[in-house]
Amino acid sequence: KVRTRFAPSPTGYMHVGNLRTALYTWLIARHADGTFILRIEDTDQGRLVEGATDVIYRTMKECHLDHDEGPDVGGPTGPYIQSQRRDLYLPYAQLLVEKGAAYYCFCEKAESEEDSGEFDRADDPCRNLSEEEVAANLAAGKPYVIRQRIPHEGTTTFHDVSFGDITVENKTLDDQVLLKRDGLPTYNFANVVDDHLMGITHVVRGSEYLSSAPKYNLLYEAFGWEVPTYVHCSPVMRDQHNKMSKRHGDPSYEDLKAQGFLTDAILNYVALLGWAPKGEFAEQEIFSLDELVKVFDIAGISKSPAIFDIEKLTYFNATYLRAMEPAAFAEVAEPYIRQAVKNPAIDAAGIAALLQARCEKLTDIPEKVDFFDALPDYDVEFFTNKKSKTNAEVSKAMLEAAIPALEAISDWTVDAIHDTLIDLAAKLEVKNATLMWPVRIAAAGKLVTPGGAVEICHLLGKDETLRRLRLGLD
Ligand code: GLU
Repeated sequence: KVRTRFAPSPTGYMHVGNLRTALYTWLIARHADGTFILRIEDTDQGRLVEGATDVIYRTMKECHLDHDEGPDVGGPTGPYIQSQRRDLYLPYAQLLVEKGAAYYCFCEKAESEEDSGEFDRADDPCRNLSEEEVAANLAAGKPYVIRQRIPHEGTTTFHDVSFGDITVENKTLDDQVLLKRDGLPTYNFANVVDDHLMGITHVVRGSEYLSSAPKYNLLYEAFGWEVPTYVHCSPVMRDQHNKMSKRHGDPSYEDLKAQGFLTDAILNYVALLGWAPKGEFAEQEIFSLDELVKVFDIAGISKSPAIFDIEKLTYFNATYLRAMEPAAFAEVAEPYIRQAVKNPAIDAAGIAALLQARCEKLTDIPEKVDFFDALPDYDVEFFTNKKSKTNAEVSKAMLEAAIPALEAISDWTVDAIHDTLIDLAAKLEVKNATLMWPVRIAAAGKLVTPGGAVEICHLLGKDETLRRLRLGLD
């Protein structure tokens, strides 16, 4: 039975790469009708950020990546917060010592060195201490760490789904610390023990952990535990040469949301950053989460790094916006419309209907609709348009004719405005556009507007429309 886990460290935001890992692990579990676990890896207390776990819960929830076991929902293999598991690692480290796969090290090394693995084991006298010496040191209460005993000779091979078999010389691996002086496990040790105790069958994570994988393998072997299936994902790149990085201003999931992208569009796009569907779906790009659950397979995960392309995401987003039910679109668009259109008499849902086909990102909305609130200072040049056969002079004549015609409308509906203007154009023997162009410019004061003259006049209301058309005459 498939069991996967997403094991974020609470950093305060969700990288695009992390979101992709979360999505892939969730998809693997859901595709196989397995179990998806959320585990919070907070052993690096120095890096903890206040409120950071909330960001994880919120993002997972927003993205519909529901977990079956985790800190908030519990489960049979808890606790699911690594710092709450602190006491269970020592016996496992001691077990490895008994098996000869680890050793007590009493050298005085700084904690930072313990973590960075810059320790030269060739010089480590503790690797060869006799049992009696170890016992004496322990009895004397000497502080210690427990290190992994990596063989000096030979090679270790591990298998990764996307990278294949990887073989490394054991002499290139360091005797990493498993248990620190304060009794807490190092990240790499906790990870192996937890994955085993939680029955994880598939480990999906960033390829920055590839170099640790052989050491993990040696630990699994020493314990006699089954090695999970490894799936390392290449980094998400900002360009050919550089990884995406928050520090260099690349957007996190939260940033993308704030930039007006929809969660569903982000997820769809992120799914394709390093995974490609096969067979009958090979050409398909737009996938709902349910569809992804059906078609996702780990064989489609690629080892070549994917470049994050905001233009492509924008295209996905526009596609999602257009495909929404009009009422659902109005709901997400309304706060953005109201940023610019404060006048409550102007119907936000009506504006949304005009925007839906013309909007790539929600944050584009305010500047597209600001004219509904206040007529901008516009240029008389706007009244000149070759295709519509208008210029300043023609426009003036058109507005002079339009004002009384519109004024005569008693029931200010789209149809009434439309029919009135079309009849007027016929009567004046001009192209419809010759009349519509100046009406729209006078009403909106902008060259590019969502919706045409009729819709804009309708939303503005009769009084405001007439006021603006009269201003257009000056
Ligand atoms: N806590 C690690 C991270 O956030 C996860 C590594 C793993 O999944 O094994 O990068």
